[in-house]
Amino acid sequence: MKVTVKKQAAKKIKKGYPLIQTEDLKKSVTSNHWVTFVDETDQFLARGYLGKQNKGIGWVLTANDEPIDEAFFQKQFRTAKEKRRVYYQEEQTTAFRIVNGPGDHLGGLTIDLYENFAVFSWYNETLFGKKAEIIAAFQKIFPEVAGAYEKYRFGTGEVSNQLYGKKAPEPLLIKENNVSYAVYLDEGLMTGIFLDQKEVRGKLTQGLATGKKVLNMFSYTGAFSVAAAMGGATETTSVDLAKRSRLKTEEQFSINGLSSDQQKIYVMDTFAYFNYAKKKNLTFDLVILDPPSFARNKKKVFSVAKDYGSLIENSVDILSEKGMILASTNAENLSVTKFRQTIETSLINKGVSFECVQSFRLPSDYTVSKAYPEGNYLKVFLYQIEK
Ligand code: SAH
Repeated sequence: MKVTVKKQAAKKIKKGYPLIQTEDLKKSVTSNHWVTFVDETDQFLARGYLGKQNKGIGWVLTANDEPIDEAFFQKQFRTAKEKRRVYYQEEQTTAFRIVNGPGDHLGGLTIDLYENFAVFSWYNETLFGKKAEIIAAFQKIFPEVAGAYEKYRFGTGEVSNQLYGKKAPEPLLIKENNVSYAVYLDEGLMTGIFLDQKEVRGKLTQGLATGKKVLNMFSYTGAFSVAAAMGGATETTSVDLAKRSRLKTEEQFSINGLSSDQQKIYVMDTFAYFNYAKKKNLTFDLVILDPPSFARNKKKVFSVAKDYGSLIENSVDILSEKGMILASTNAENLSVTKFRQTIETSLINKGVSFECVQSFRLPSDYTVSKAYPEGNYLKVFLYQIEK
């Protein structure tokens, strides 16, 4: 089927922009099949598909006039695999992203490798409907993958299933910078580790945390805490509202042979913990802030845009004389400039001197296309603070 796009959209597509928005279409249409995007004069632009997801209503997959079939996916997968050659060679890290949606010209699908198991995430129903040819191509290019799971990031039904092959052990132990992490490949949408933070965890393990008292807010399974403890932190404190976080965090410490004496875990709201720490006059040398972009709990709605400043100000209150704040966000709609402004306005409000000593964006397994810079959603800044 041919889908006509408006003039502005045609310009964007010609520059390599892969995401199709509702307003790009000349006429509102839907299709479950591969489509050819043409301009208003019926000139060929690109091939791809329409599929509604959390953002946009479709993706361009190729600017070439080529069929989208199993051979096409084999070609995309081969290129994607080639790009991760360093990760395949590196023995200290056994989990990484092997296909990153639009960064690998496969908008709507990501695939992560955990040892010899793969996890597919489908972001819309149209691409999911093409699963048979995609899986067939994948198995040819990645024959070493023993089994796969899939996550559905569309619709309202179940979210996780086994896809093919062997079942993964539960937990499956992966390595990253020689630190072990326990992952569960078939427990809801999340596996226990966010692979996009590998460089930040690496920094913690390789010196940043040494000799420090570390506070890890929004700790989930405590991955940052474990990385810090393995890197010689004298003490870690992990704070997360979810009840599951306690056992999951204890498990991460235990599989790395770390005794839990110096590792504190609080199942608690972040802001409640700030109040508790202030009351008890606790101080920390490094505070890690990595909240979800948006979260609702019984009492209130947390949003990065509205609440990050307050996280920073509260962190300064419980920081030692010369402490550090590691501030992270995965909010795609918050620009780097806006995020830094939010942090620095709060630091100025608190009257401390500060210097941003390092920043991180997505690691290179999370490929980002130049034409689609918003795909580089991760922003992490490390601040040295002096009170
Ligand atoms: N930093 C983690 C990932 C955080 S995911 C890592 O590196 O692995 C977001 C976490 O924030 C979830 O585990 C969720 O339970 C927790 N959370 C959401 N709202 C919270 C709140 N108000 N206080 C504490 N934790 C919260």
